Formats: sequence, structure tokens, C-alpha cells
Amino acid sequence: MNRWKRVFFDLDNTLFDYERAFELASKQTFSQWSAAEKNGVHVDQWFNLFKEACDRLWPDYENGHLSRKSYQALRFQQSLQTFHIEVSQNIALWFEHQFKKQIPDFIDLYDGVELLLEFLCAHNIELGIISNGDYHLQLKKMNRLSIFKWIPSENIYVTDESGKVKPSSSMFDLVIQNRSGNPSESLFVGDSWDLDVVGAISAGWNALHLNTSGVPPSTDHEPFHSAATFKEIYERRNVLFLMDDQ
Ligand SMILES: [Mg+2]
Repeated sequence: MNRWKRVFFDLDNTLFDYERAFELASKQTFSQWSAAEKNGVHVDQWFNLFKEACDRLWPDYENGHLSRKSYQALRFQQSLQTFHIEVSQNIALWFEHQFKKQIPDFIDLYDGVELLLEFLCAHNIELGIISNGDYHLQLKKMNRLSIFKWIPSENIYVTDESGKVKPSSSMFDLVIQNRSGNPSESLFVGDSWDLDVVGAISAGWNALHLNTSGVPPSTDHEPFHSAATFKEIYERRNVLFLMDDQ
């Protein structure tokens, strides 16, 4: 017997390794940027500084002190300071746009995702995605990952910056409304404690935390289960998704 009527997933860092794709896409874009070549900047050295700027500026974006655009421009501008390269906000945002466009070329499903989706489909469990982000970009990633082989397009919920973003319960509530379902028979799988676990549980759903980074929980919400890798979720599929140990 199925434990859940529906299982929905987050996308970035849940079904594929976003951090890896981010690194490869930004490095490729940087290598092709004429100013980098002209100034003899080594791409690995630059990326370490870029990553450091991302991590340092992120809290200011998260707490609203920086707009999304300012955050994106500043992290590139600051990554270049060591090399004494100054760029305008427009150039920085151009870089952001260029490398984001490349990300779908560098993504692959985590080990176990394809097998788990097959397994859940075979058990007639309703599948879907709830993801924050740019609609067209998220769709491009899903196409690249062939997600529509398992998940029908009407079960894809991509939020933008309209205020319905996770951890708000709006999107979780909308799924339940559209399916005339019950949140308690629904499971959400995601990597972010603050967005996915807290969002799902606040909406009355159950949560499965994919904790690839091993960061301890920041609140006392209680997920149904936590796993370190997607492969582990697949290996425990009978216990996590079915009621009996088949
Ligand atoms: Mg995520």
C-alpha cells in the first residue's frame, strides 16, 4: 500500500547538483570573456573569489538589504577586485545572464532520481515539482533532465518573485486545491531546510529533507525523514514510500 497519495519535489540541488552546474557554467562563461583573457586571469582562482563573494553577499540579499540585481552585479564586480578589473553593473548583469543561460547544459539527474521516479510512477503515486525561480529557466532545466517523462506539465509549479515563493504555503495550498487533496497525504522532497522543509510542514504537508550539505536544522520542524543523498532515498524506497516492507 502507498504511504503517500502525492510526492512533489524541489528542483535545484534536489533532483540535480546545482552547485556543480553553477561552477561549470560560470567558469565556461568567464573563460570566454575577453577581459579575463586580456588580463591573464586564471579561471580557477577567479571562481574561488566569485564563490567567496556569493557566500559573503548572500545574507544581505536574503535579509533584503540588497536587491536581486544588486546582489548579482556586486558578486561579479567584487570577484574581479583582486585583478584590478572594474566593470559596470550592466556588464556584471550581462555576465550573470550569460552564465545562467549555460547552466542547463551542465545538469544531470542525481543517481537514483530516474529509478525512484520510475518506481513512484509504477505505484501510481502522483508526482510534481514546486520550484522557486525564473519560469523559463526552470522549464529549460526540466526539459534537459527529461522530467516530463515522469511528471505531467500540469503538476509543475514554478514560482517567480510574485510573493508566492517558498517557504510561503501558497504553492503547497494551490496544489491541494487543484487536486482536491489532503496535505497530510502529501510528501515534499527538498534540499533547503528553510524553504522546502519549513514551507511544506507549515502547509500541513510531510517533508523529506535531502540534506546533502549536512547543515543542522535551523528550526524545530520535524521532517518525516532526512537523507544525505538521493541514492539513499531510492535505496530506502519501500520504507519511505510504501506502508509495508515489500
Ligand atoms: Mg533546492
